[in-house]
Amino acid sequence: MEKNRIGLSIILPIYNDAAAVKRFLPELFSFTGQQEQACEVILVDDGSKDHLSATYNQFKEQLPQNTALRLIQFSRNFGKEAALTAGLAQAQGELVTMMDADGQHPIVVLKEMLDLMHTRDVDVVAAVQTSREHESLLIRTLKNGFYHFMQDTHRYELTPNAGDFRLMKQRVVQALLQLPERQRFMKGLYAWVGFSTLYIPFQASPRKTGKSKFNYFSLFELALVGITSFSQRPLRWISRMGLILSLLAIIYGLYIVGDTLFFGKDLAGWPTLAAGIMFSAGIQLVCLGVIGEYIGRIYEEVKQRPLYLVDKVWDSRDQK
Ligand code: UDP
Ligand code: MG
Repeated sequence: MEKNRIGLSIILPIYNDAAAVKRFLPELFSFTGQQEQACEVILVDDGSKDHLSATYNQFKEQLPQNTALRLIQFSRNFGKEAALTAGLAQAQGELVTMMDADGQHPIVVLKEMLDLMHTRDVDVVAAVQTSREHESLLIRTLKNGFYHFMQDTHRYELTPNAGDFRLMKQRVVQALLQLPERQRFMKGLYAWVGFSTLYIPFQASPRKTGKSKFNYFSLFELALVGITSFSQRPLRWISRMGLILSLLAIIYGLYIVGDTLFFGKDLAGWPTLAAGIMFSAGIQLVCLGVIGEYIGRIYEEVKQRPLYLVDKVWDSRDQK
């Protein structure tokens, strides 16, 4: 198979999901086998502890004629965003898609995206989750609030509930790879690069095996990365808050002076003083925290560490 004539690349980021991958791959291979163009499946093992590589040969045996398989193994867990970026850097297909390995992204939707890509003049077809019933009410509310907050600029828009399940032309992939940031909030990066995008609704299937790798803590962390890399609103908020508080302090100061001069009240009131000091100290700490969050991100970026480290690579094309 010629390497440079691949029609479709499918990237699967995998972290401790070997059981799910074993279920999903045969289904995926039967789909790629039906395609006219050559396909490649890129598995990115994001430092799994369940030895996915041990089953590589078993996967390889199931490969249809027109499909190549590549397994990239990270030296440790670097996170889904890094795994996706590694997959994108390797993908040679004219069209590239990313799917969760746990079977939550249905292959019929991929078919639909391919059809649309061939009939419409667009560069990206992205799947948007219509309902997130499988998630808890709290997670859903927090995610809604987050998307609401992220509508920060009129130049590009973060489409709520559009995730990594999307089909892109190679030139969009190249554009994404040009963005050098270490802390990759992919949903923001997709919005940032732009290109004509068609959104189609889809319903995520329930996870077949295992459980979600994202808990409240990691989602919060991801949201912070998203906010600090795509919005300067918190910084603006704290400077405005500073202005308002200073203004209030001046008004209060004038009031006290007037009270003493004109009405001869003595200057009692240490509780007001104590509360005022504590309040302003608290506000200052919060503001420092917000600034610190941004400085932390700068620190991460200037270190210029690689986004991920690849330990081993297996490729079914190597022996051909
Ligand atoms: N994943 C990954 N690295 C991580 C966490 C998750 O590569 O650190 C993969 C995981 O194996 C799955 C996909 O990312 O294929 C989505 O993860 P998950 O299903 O846990 O997330 P959810 O569907 O709950 O958003
Ligand atoms: Mg999932």
